[in-house]
Amino acid sequence: MRSPSSRDVSSGGAPDLFQNESAALAKARAMHSIIDADAAEYRQSLGELIEHFERLMRETRRLIGRSDRAEREMQALAQQLAYRASHDALTGVLNRSAVIERTTKVLRTSSAVMIILDIDEFKRINDDYGHPTGDAVISGVVDCLRAIVGDQGFIGRVGGEEFTVLLPGHDPASGAMLAERMREAISDSLVVAPVERRITASFGVSINEVGTGFDTAYGLADAALYRAKRSGRNRVEFADR
Ligand code: GH3
Ligand code: MG
Ligand code: MG
Repeated sequence: MRSPSSRDVSSGGAPDLFQNESAALAKARAMHSIIDADAAEYRQSLGELIEHFERLMRETRRLIGRSDRAEREMQALAQQLAYRASHDALTGVLNRSAVIERTTKVLRTSSAVMIILDIDEFKRINDDYGHPTGDAVISGVVDCLRAIVGDQGFIGRVGGEEFTVLLPGHDPASGAMLAERMREAISDSLVVAPVERRITASFGVSINEVGTGFDTAYGLADAALYRAKRSGRNRVEFADR
């Protein structure tokens, strides 16, 4: 499209974007009011009007295309922003505030098993191999969780090396089985170079009736996790309720 600067600018005021078209229109009007002009003059006037009209149509089409593109870009950006606001940047699982929101919402209408896990002796991994290797271990743990949870629930990162898994509608037995499978997957098959020692995590599980609040579900699972740590780590403990 012609930029406003390529058009005439009326002296001192804002540029008139349609100055050329207005001039052509004024000329056509003047010609239209002459009742006995030459056919050639009418023809000439009509020709100029056609030229301007076609240019306006071309520019309008281009503008509509541009505005459609801008709208699509804005929608994609809004989606990206919403994703970043609710997901952990390192692993892509839900962040703490999103976990609280989703868990609260699920428990309003459904029972749910909540599993909390915390990587064992993680500080030593950071100390011995460096922070980037620590990050790789965190990502490896999340990969193990994802492979087991699938679409049965959702995973969240609630702290540095602490995660939650919420399984809506799961009965205690299947929740316990999944927690045990997660523990095994991490301790038996998670290898992250150059870490040579076994990577393990401890688990706390709470079984929650519909209507339970987040703090209660989390507090019960956290107390069980604490017991798992105290009893030697790399184990699953259940909240007594
Ligand atoms: P425990 O078995 O009792 O859980 O021992 P621990 O060493 O894992 O526990 P602690 O909570 O004392 O240490 C957690 C460490 O995790 C401390 C912190 O420096 C580290 N950490 C937290 N967030 C991140 C992260 O995003 N990346 C890395 N590499 N380290 C993190
Ligand atoms: Mg830990
Ligand atoms: Mg911790």
